[in-house]
Amino acid sequence: MAEITIPSELSEKLRTAKKVVALTGAGISAESGLATFRDAQTGLWAKYRPEELATPQAFIDNPELVWNWYAWRRELAGQAKPNPGHAALVEMAAKVPEFLLVTQNIDGLHQQAGSRHVIELHGNIHRTKRFDDNQIVTEWEETGEVPPRCPATNSLLRPDVVWFGENLPPGALAQAAIAAAECDIFFSIGTSSVVFPAAGLIGETLRNGGLTVEINPGETPHSSAVSFVLRGPAGSVLPALVQQTWP
Ligand code: NAD
Repeated sequence: MAEITIPSELSEKLRTAKKVVALTGAGISAESGLATFRDAQTGLWAKYRPEELATPQAFIDNPELVWNWYAWRRELAGQAKPNPGHAALVEMAAKVPEFLLVTQNIDGLHQQAGSRHVIELHGNIHRTKRFDDNQIVTEWEETGEVPPRCPATNSLLRPDVVWFGENLPPGALAQAAIAAAECDIFFSIGTSSVVFPAAGLIGETLRNGGLTVEINPGETPHSSAVSFVLRGPAGSVLPALVQQTWP
């Protein structure tokens, strides 16, 4: 691939920025081999749309189907390794005085890469909770029943992820929104920017006159509003950005 040239004006602003927020979506994990929601599903799952499986109603209607879909995705996420895009954000965090990483991803790859203080807006696929009252459960007996049940209350278990129509974890969105409003630069990385409220965070920065940067090989609804568009895969663009900003 041709070398990616980062606009020098962006590098200069980033070098002197005090507060930076990076919001990531499924696209940053695409180069780790995890499909985005916009990619077609494969094999057994090709006939389902993710949006139809990731809802409380889908779980009520067919808990076995939804549990198995997440079990399959958990296995893929467990096998995946962070890529140079995740690593570059760890480096950026070390250079910027105040850096906040906000992710819509549920795969845990940012933490695996070494990122600290990650706000997970949509939960984490590696955690499990009770369907009845959202309490985290770490141990249960594998009786063969799918989904398994909580040993203490008999509630069905489900992944600790945010489904369409559900609220985000208390405090997470508020903290991200304050940081987005106060930051000098907001990066929107590998997200289609159509799933709200996460897609609205960049608006906080735009309203306050902060710099906004989109990193995505494709167009999004925010492309025309941001200060800089860096077209390309995050696994190449982010390392180039860090290298050219702090050579
Ligand atoms: P999305 O699937 O809607 O959009 C993915 C975006 O990534 C697209 O705009 C696409 O152009 C871009 N993209 C593709 N390859 C890229 C690359 N190499 N580098 C940078 N960008 C790339 O995903 P979303 O915006 O995160 O939102 C949908 C929901 O999907 C979220 O709620 C999230 O929880 C869930 N999701 C998470 C994972 C994960 O944790 N890995 C995977 C699939 C979906």
